[in-house]
Amino acid sequence: MRATDDRVYAEIMKTFNFRIVPLATEVAEGARRAAATGARDHVMLTTDSPNSYPCRHCLRWANPGERVILFTYASVPPGRPYSETGPIFVHAEPCERYDTIHEYPPDFLSGRIFRAYDADYNMIDAVIPDGAEPEAVIENLFKNPETKFVQARSMNRGCYTFGVERI
Ligand SMILES: [Zn+2]
Repeated sequence: MRATDDRVYAEIMKTFNFRIVPLATEVAEGARRAAATGARDHVMLTTDSPNSYPCRHCLRWANPGERVILFTYASVPPGRPYSETGPIFVHAEPCERYDTIHEYPPDFLSGRIFRAYDADYNMIDAVIPDGAEPEAVIENLFKNPETKFVQARSMNRGCYTFGVERI
């Protein structure tokens, strides 16, 4: 019993130096409203395969048969050399914003790469985990005092998945 208690305690005590930043609820709701009006740049899709349509709001894979909205999102705001706008999905139906922000989203333990940016939105580092735990990769990126925020992106398509902030 004692060993188990110690292990549980150790897990509770493990804290990271970052927090996860899912897509803002206003952005997800705005996308749902735009899709409802038939906006050409907000496409409604019915998902046909698992682990293919990550919702950036609840940070879960959409289940096959669920509807999602595909639209463009400025993950790095306009007006900067590294400004970037690209395609993302959110669930078409209201979903709960990912709220266990002190834990890495379990649906995305693999298949992500991580980019570090400074306070001026310049990309200053990028890491492919290559077998390393993503939490360790992120913590390592924040060891650089210049790192203001980190972005997780899909390894194969490069799409923005979620942000990470220093605590
Ligand atoms: Zn969702």
